[in-house]
Amino acid sequence: MADPADRRRRVPRTDSVLGDPRLDGAVGRLGRALVKEAVTAAQDRVRAGALEPDALVDAVLDGLPAIPATLRPVLNATGVLLHTNLGRAPLSVAARAAILAAAGTTDVEVDLDTGRRGRRGRGALGALAAAVPDAQAVHVVNNGAAALVLAATALAAGREIVLARGEMVEIGDGFRIPDLLVSTGARLREVGTTNRVTLDDYAAAVGADTGFILKLHPSNFVLTGFTASVPTEDLCTLPVPVVVDIGSGLLARHTALRDEPDAASALRAGAALVTASGDKLLGGPQAGLLLGRAAEVERLRRHPLARALRVDKLTLAALEATLRGPATPTARALTVTVEELRTRADRLTTLLRAGGADAIAVDSQAAVGGGGAPGVLLPSVAVSLPAGYAGPLRRGDPAVLARVEQGRCLLDLRAVDPTDDRALQQAVHVVNNGAAALVL
Ligand SMILES: *Cc1c(COP(=O)(O)O)cnc(C)c1O
Repeated sequence: MADPADRRRRVPRTDSVLGDPRLDGAVGRLGRALVKEAVTAAQDRVRAGALEPDALVDAVLDGLPAIPATLRPVLNATGVLLHTNLGRAPLSVAARAAILAAAGTTDVEVDLDTGRRGRRGRGALGALAAAVPDAQAVHVVNNGAAALVLAATALAAGREIVLARGEMVEIGDGFRIPDLLVSTGARLREVGTTNRVTLDDYAAAVGADTGFILKLHPSNFVLTGFTASVPTEDLCTLPVPVVVDIGSGLLARHTALRDEPDAASALRAGAALVTASGDKLLGGPQAGLLLGRAAEVERLRRHPLARALRVDKLTLAALEATLRGPATPTARALTVTVEELRTRADRLTTLLRAGGADAIAVDSQAAVGGGGAPGVLLPSVAVSLPAGYAGPLRRGDPAVLARVEQGRCLLDLRAVDPTDDRALQQAVHVVNNGAAALVL
């Protein structure tokens, strides 16, 4: 190309590029500012001699994102079903459709039959109540932490929450449940030792100042050896309300997760209130579920703080569809058989090997993750590739997050929806085609 001064003269002007009809669609879809940014970047490349002026508009079009937001879909091939860094539970197709249907103006707080104001989120609340008949009443807030904060504020501010020392847990990213509870103005009364707590410990701590006993599921670690904890039904013999934070949002017992607490069992054992997350094992949107006795739930619902923790119409839509609709991707990932995973892995490796990749199917172990079923390993199958694939796959489109283990890049299929197998294969092919340049 010509010398630098000549190149500068040949850079098309911003206004004339933005006025190019070929960019009209992009401006409508993404907004002028975002397209202008891309034009500026392309002009820089022309100036640097890396792009011909005639090719500028095409380069802009090629580099533009599909939507004006930076969150991108990621194929979760880590083998961790609920990956907090990947947004925990993937929503079902039904829940995604419900979100779209509610995204505009919607009847979230109006009864279209009568034209009067209707109870906000009655569909989602009704679905939750129907899913857990043992709950006299239910309420939904922003996340599991918000459910705990609301319970502590409404039932124990200025009073004591009795909690076993072994259940003082950090939930991740430096957030600790005890700090969260204390931030509401409640005081903590620790009972027992790190490994053992008895009913007598609780009984001795309970008094006129007790707001409630909190039983918290240590959802991200396991304590083994010389340990003792008190079952909910024994705690419920004490003369104070018992709040059970089950964490993961299992509504009823799950045969594959025998040690994971569920809402129905805790309520049947006498809990006044159960708190849980919506985006863990329930497989729904981020939400905090509150289920329990009518009096306690009503106190929470009526508390001024409830307004600050309320969920939006999109969450309500997704939650209702999760509860009423077909099995969630999380539920299917939990129950898919190893034989099925092996069939998928064999099919994928055959295709990938035909494309020249060093791919083999190997046994793998998946985990629930995301604060659920700690210590439970789920037998799985992975497509094993050279370790060098991991980085390019992560930066690809769609991005694929793998696990690197013993010098190999493992694509664990348990958390990958079968409908995404083709996209996974394509993503590996793209990396493979660029392999010569990448020196895998
Ligand atoms: C995950 C978890 C929480 C926090 O729930 P979020 O929905 O992440 O706010 C609280 N308690 C337990 C036991 C958990 O597992």
